[in-house]
Amino acid sequence: MTIRLPDLPYAYDALEPHISSKTLHFHHEKHHKGYVDKANATLEDNPLKGKPIEDIVRGAHAEGDQGLFNNIAQVWNHTVYWHSMAPKGGGDPHGDLAKKIKEDFGDAAKFREKFKASALGQFGSGYAWLAFDGKKLIIEKTPNAVTPLIEGKAVLLACDVWEHAYYLDHQNRRDSYVDAFLNKLVNWHFAEERFGVCVNKGMKATFEPAEA
Ligand code: FE
Repeated sequence: MTIRLPDLPYAYDALEPHISSKTLHFHHEKHHKGYVDKANATLEDNPLKGKPIEDIVRGAHAEGDQGLFNNIAQVWNHTVYWHSMAPKGGGDPHGDLAKKIKEDFGDAAKFREKFKASALGQFGSGYAWLAFDGKKLIIEKTPNAVTPLIEGKAVLLACDVWEHAYYLDHQNRRDSYVDAFLNKLVNWHFAEERFGVCVNKGMKATFEPAEA
């Protein structure tokens, strides 16, 4: 059983003008696919082969297998990132997640402010995340391939801040890209659904669409 590259949940040009078709083609077909191919090559003769992706991510991290971890975590991180955006995204969250955001951050505008600061504060490549630890919502940033998954948190949203995510469209202006992510693209339906699963099923919000 090999890991496969999952399809994007929308057309390559669906996020224009904020993220171009050219960026999504490169990001999905070159970067994401590259991580899939390297993860599969690294998994040959590894006892983690065939396990659910989240287990491989945690297992590689626990064993200190940096080569496998970097690639398999990037497979997972990118899949969550694609789902964290939608063609008609943006706006404010609804329902239970909106209430929890109000409780933990003040309101949706405060959330955006903190999330943007986190995304801009990540020096070099990495991610900004909205995660849930079972009690509180957490905004955090991580370098390179590091993911809140290894700390047992459930990820609700991921924003890739590697330059390959935005350089063709926003050049060096990460702030312009993060504004577009938060105001025009963020997929609150995805975050709301995952938050609901966490609350109702005791944090069992697994995310395995990249497995064949
Ligand atoms: Fe990326």
